[in-house]
Amino acid sequence: MPSYRCKLCDEQAEDVALHLTERHGMNNERELFLVVCLIKGRKLAPVMQCPVPGCSVGKSSRLERHLDRIHRVDNHQRARFMEMAHRKAIVYELRALRETFPDPPMVSDIDMCHCVLINMTADEVSRAVTSPDGFRVISVKRHKTAAFFGRAKIALSPQEYTWLTDTIRHRSVASDYCFCAAKGNRCMQLLSQFRTAWRHVGLPGRPDFMMIRNSLVTHAHTRLPPRQRQYLARAMCHNTQTALQYYVTDQTTSLARSSRSLALRAVNALKRK
Ligand SMILES: [Zn+2]
Ligand SMILES: [Zn+2]
Repeated sequence: MPSYRCKLCDEQAEDVALHLTERHGMNNERELFLVVCLIKGRKLAPVMQCPVPGCSVGKSSRLERHLDRIHRVDNHQRARFMEMAHRKAIVYELRALRETFPDPPMVSDIDMCHCVLINMTADEVSRAVTSPDGFRVISVKRHKTAAFFGRAKIALSPQEYTWLTDTIRHRSVASDYCFCAAKGNRCMQLLSQFRTAWRHVGLPGRPDFMMIRNSLVTHAHTRLPPRQRQYLARAMCHNTQTALQYYVTDQTTSLARSSRSLALRAVNALKRK
């Protein structure tokens, strides 16, 4: 019997549905169906949305052929885009389900944005390199679009970097991850903790990582020249078309550092208005 890697806990499971029900308490039938499809790589429907940004065709029943003919992808890119399209279709359905406030409630959060931070390891933090002006740049290997973008780079000021290393040094649990749960496994609750901190400092609304990312992209789009916009998109591992141009090359430390300045410039332009 083949075994599959659970997308919720990274454990291997032979009977995926049983694992999801018993280990994760997944009792919503629709959620169970969708997550099993995702884990087993099963197609939801023959018609899929083309995942290439800016593609005007949209949905296609022969996506592989469409990718070959219109986007002239190579084998590796085609496989990646097919995987993205497949995942996107399921995430879309999970999100739609979430909006109905289903009962029984959903237990997975695959449809919610997990930033690079969730996969950042303590080892990667310790290996940060220093840019000429003292900023520390951390390279994170595992993240959603790593196949396109290589390692994600996170630039931190010296003070921010100290917060991180102090947190890792002083915690009582041993973990490979920079942010971890009580037993040392990956902290899957980053979003709710972020929201708690957001409320704690008295800010309004209920933001998620995707909203922050999208607003950054929007500001960058209207306020930065094209070249700098591309650097920023690259830094945020955001645009696959940009990714194809820079295919496989890792972002350099100095580029990661200046991308952080660009992000701040895009947002700060708001304040001066
Ligand atoms: Zn699991
Ligand atoms: Zn297309």
